[in-house]
Order: sequence, then structure tokens, then C-alpha cells
Amino acid sequence: MHMTAPETASNPPADGGSIHARGASVAIVWSPQASRIHDHLPSNLGRSTLVHTLLSSLGLVVPETHPHLKVIAPLPATPSGLLGFHDPKYLHLIGQLAKGIPVPDVDLTRAGLVHDSPPFRGLAAHLRLAAGGSMQAAHFLTSPPAPLIPRIAIHWDGGRHHAQPSAAAGFCYVNDIVLAIQHLLTHTDANLHPVVYLDLDVHHGDGVQDAFRGHFRQVITLSVHHYDPRGGYYPGTGAAEDKHDVDMLFAMPGGDGPWPSSCKNWINVPLDRGCSDSTFVTVVSHVISRLHTGGLTHPRAVVIQCGMDGLAGDPKGKVWNLSEQAYVRVLAHVRKVWGAVSPVLLLGGGGYHHANTARAWAWMTAAALELWDVRGNGELSGKELVPETVPHEDGNSDEGILEVFGPLFEMAVDVKGTVRDRNVGEGGKVKVSVMRGVERAVDSVLGSLN
Ligand SMILES: [Zn+2]
Repeated sequence: MHMTAPETASNPPADGGSIHARGASVAIVWSPQASRIHDHLPSNLGRSTLVHTLLSSLGLVVPETHPHLKVIAPLPATPSGLLGFHDPKYLHLIGQLAKGIPVPDVDLTRAGLVHDSPPFRGLAAHLRLAAGGSMQAAHFLTSPPAPLIPRIAIHWDGGRHHAQPSAAAGFCYVNDIVLAIQHLLTHTDANLHPVVYLDLDVHHGDGVQDAFRGHFRQVITLSVHHYDPRGGYYPGTGAAEDKHDVDMLFAMPGGDGPWPSSCKNWINVPLDRGCSDSTFVTVVSHVISRLHTGGLTHPRAVVIQCGMDGLAGDPKGKVWNLSEQAYVRVLAHVRKVWGAVSPVLLLGGGGYHHANTARAWAWMTAAALELWDVRGNGELSGKELVPETVPHEDGNSDEGILEVFGPLFEMAVDVKGTVRDRNVGEGGKVKVSVMRGVERAVDSVLGSLN
């Protein structure tokens, strides 16, 4: 706890002001009650509580330990808030299910509430809270007073990138990301460059891309994901070049086109099996740097979907071989390039090896906090705040949950060294064909900027 006099306008902090006088710089949107609701998500039973119990045991959600941290309890989104993206019929159907009113199978199928996205107890509460949490995180980033260094907000229970306006898809029932970006667009300077949306999930970020396709002045989407040209890998979209590229001109409702077919506001970087940390960081960092040097210097905000199903050993992702450091290094690069001008929103997403997902999000949280923490070394690695092992015997009342990190309780994700990275060519470098695709995609986006 602080033992000094409280900071007020007439009693500035001893460091002479700087970011300290502007209040919290990092926010985590979370409450134990919210976790208990998200724990019912069929694809990730119990994940939210596990993630946040680990964060708590590491002291990463304790404002007394991190004076620049604010913990914000999420509130449900209002019906009108959800209508910013979702179809009223879809929301009505969810409401009927919540009241126990039977819904015909044909309507459930039309709403995507089948197969991997079934209705479940607490669905309506999860949907409203996931959306509300991400919108509150966006609100924190844009609310006055504007800090000297832009803020970071974290909502690990958000990031549901596959959800469509009128249908659930791929374990996603609400597109909290689109709603959060809409909030950012309403509350940031329209004269700045578009919001950058960076999707790091192993699956293509189709729902967000489709929502903003053609909205050149507002959002640029960038998804790095696994893609199999023969099909069979969900959701099947996300090739480097898709059918929209051959249209002569195209305009989307609500977009600001028409634009020539050579211009796009979305970048897809499809990667092959075995993607390693070095490939991932090389490719993502290159795209970010190229966008920046190409003129995208002042994004209104950067929104990162941090789905962790690309981690080594993920039971549903199954294709990549990443460690948590890949994501931490990408975050460090984003902050290096845009950190002085753009707020950053970190959202969750996939991640089906729950212990590894919790590990990686703990590292990301620590890296975000380290920017402002007096103990941090300023290099945004998380290493100052994350011990080598999970502190599982510290008297935490939930410590039983942390047994899943045993028997070794290591904080690093165990990456097997035997998986071949098929994105790498001779000499151990990322294949020329991959980098050429990246260049083409970046060029077509930069063409829409100017
Ligand atoms: Zn995924």
C-alpha cells in the first residue's frame, strides 16, 4: 500500500507528475462473479476462473501492488449496445432461451446455435457480459483525462472473433470485438489513421474482418492464422487473396467505398503447420513495421485478439508450435511502433489447453504492467513480474485450482522441439513465398490509406 499522501491536483506525486498524475494506465476488466458466468462457456469450461486465479496468485490483479493498475468489474452490455452489431432477431432468440421458452430447431440452426456452439445455461448472461466487458475496456482507453502515454486495457473474457450479426459461430456467441471497435471509433479522433485490429488466434478472424470490410477510413484488419488451401481447417477463409480481390469495384453498406479492387482494408497472413516463435514474430513484426513506415503512423487504437490456440500442444488448434514469448514479443513490437500514440486493447479468444492459455495471458498481463511498474526494466518482457514457477502454496483460497499447473508448476509453456516449421525454407528463414504474400497484402492496404 502507498504510505505517502494521496495524489490530488494540488498534491502532485513525488516523481514530478508524468503519467502518474493521470491515474491508472492499465486496466483489467474482470470480477470473480464474471468468471463464474464465463466458466460455463462449453468450449472453455472453467477457463476464466483458472486464468484469473493464476493472475491473482501472481499479484497481477492487485492495484495495491501496481499503482497504475485499475481493476474494472464488467457490467452487462445494454440491449441497445448489442444492437450496434447484432441482429434483433438473434438477440430475441437468446432472450427466449434464457426465459426457458422452447425455440424450434430450425431457428436454432439459423442462429448457429448447433454443433460446436450449442445453447447453454447462462448463455444470455455470458453474451451480455463479454460484450459489456470489452466495451468498458474500450471506454477506459478513451475516457478523460488523456494520459501522456496511451493506456492499455485487458479483457481476457472477450475476443469472440467468429460471431456473426445474426448467428453464433466457432464457440463465439457475441462479437464483443466489433462492439469495442465501434466504441473506439465513436470516441477517438476521426482525423487520425484507422484502428488497427490484429488477430493472433490460430483461426482466421472472419467475423471482425467481415464487419469492417470496406470501411477503409475506420479499421484495418490483420489476421495471422493457420490456413489449409485444401480446406478442412476452421473457418476455411483467410487465404492471402480472396474472391473479393477480383471485383472491379466494391462497396459495402456503411463502408466508404467504392474503391478499386487493388485496395483493401484487410490483410490475411496464412501460415502453414509447425509455426514457431521466430516465424510468428518475424512475420507479424514485419507487417506492423511495413504499415508504419508506409504511412500508418497514428492509428486511433490498436486492438489485439490474443487467442492462444496457436500455443504448442493446444488440443483444438493442433497445428502451431508457439510459446508464450511469441505473443509477448509481438506486443512489445506493437508498443515500440505505436505505443507512444495509440491506446492498446488486449482481448482473449481461443485457447483450449487451459493451463497454457492462463500462462500466456499472465505473461501478457505482466508485460503490459511492466511498462509502468517501478520494478520493470522497460523492455516489456514480463520477466520482472513472472516467477519461474506458479506460486501454488501461498495460502490462496483457490490454490486447489492451480494444481493443473503441476507437477512442475512452470510458468513457461512446454514447447516440444521436434515439430518441423513448414513456413521455413532453406537457411532457416521464413519462405520467400510467405513474405511476398505479406508484401502484396500490405501494399494493397497502404494503397487505401492515401
Ligand atoms: Zn481459435
